[in-house]
Amino acid sequence: MIAVYAGSFSPPTRGHLDIIRRASGMFDEVIVAVLSQREKRYRFPPEQRRSMLERITRELSNVRVICDEGLLVDVVRREGADVILRGLRNGSDLLFEMQLAEANRRIGGVETLFIGCLPEYSMISSTIVRDCASHGAPIESMVPEEISGEIYTAYGVSPAAERKGF
Ligand code: ADP
Repeated sequence: MIAVYAGSFSPPTRGHLDIIRRASGMFDEVIVAVLSQREKRYRFPPEQRRSMLERITRELSNVRVICDEGLLVDVVRREGADVILRGLRNGSDLLFEMQLAEANRRIGGVETLFIGCLPEYSMISSTIVRDCASHGAPIESMVPEEISGEIYTAYGVSPAAERKGF
């Protein structure tokens, strides 16, 4: 079975990586789809998000990362995947995710499976990582260590080891 784990991953977090890791043990292949909405501006361009995800998943041989700007159901069809995979942090995620899942079922006949995130990651979001990084606050507990330096660099902040005050 092939799963497409879709998101904006701007930037990827430890929560995302945990979902990918656990999914890679459950599916034959996990395709991580970096999706961008055309009308939205992202701090991290799609190729940079893809390269960060490739770096943090390089030990997972059945994980592949792609970028797309289209509809998720089209990605699923094109890749010959079976299901959409999404992570759930809490009840607020659930409401939105169920709407999304229903839309994808209606327009593409594709089912969505959910993996509940670990409690230690339930308060982590890409938005909070961006906010902390832009102010030079520590993000090391929220993002994989291979990419924290690059995230600070995107905000013109020197990496943690060189910073004082936190
Ligand atoms: P989107 O903008 O599509 O919600 P995200 O990159 O924010 O994309 O999230 C991608 C997927 O990962 C979503 O299913 C989201 O619920 C899930 N997710 C986000 N943050 C976490 C986390 N800390 N732990 C587990 N899953 C998460």
